[in-house]
Amino acid sequence: MSLVFEEVPMSADPNCIFCKIVAGHIPAKKVYEDEDLLAFHDIAPWAPVHVLIIPKRHIASMVDVSADDQAVLGKMMVLAPKLMAELGVTGGFRQVINTGRDGGQEVYHVHMHVMGGPRPWAKG
Ligand code: ADP
Repeated sequence: MSLVFEEVPMSADPNCIFCKIVAGHIPAKKVYEDEDLLAFHDIAPWAPVHVLIIPKRHIASMVDVSADDQAVLGKMMVLAPKLMAELGVTGGFRQVINTGRDGGQEVYHVHMHVMGGPRPWAKG
């Protein structure tokens, strides 16, 4: 086994930028972490509050999910409103998951954009 694989958790893709954030190899402004999930501020926000919620386990996109992922995907949904409340969002928010080329997905590790704050926003 190579050194690269030894440095990242099980079920990680060593070439995936979000797996590198999970492993602590790339910094991120984390707002939540547990055994299944990580949430951090988007590096290029297009809303006043823009966080990404990701499963720690590498799942490339929503077309790759299986029944085994139902619990963790549910946790992502439940976490979003809690985070928005903690971050002071009071007027509502959007939850967006982009999937594949035509869905505008650029990072191939499942992530939920959660965006809130006073409109208008720059994008979306
Ligand atoms: P899109 O860029 O079209 O929204 P995605 O849905 O794949 O495509 O979103 C990827 C998101 O990841 C982008 O909003 C981007 O700003 C964010 N991002 C990329 N690298 C980092 C990073 N190192 N830290 C935080 N956010 C990142």
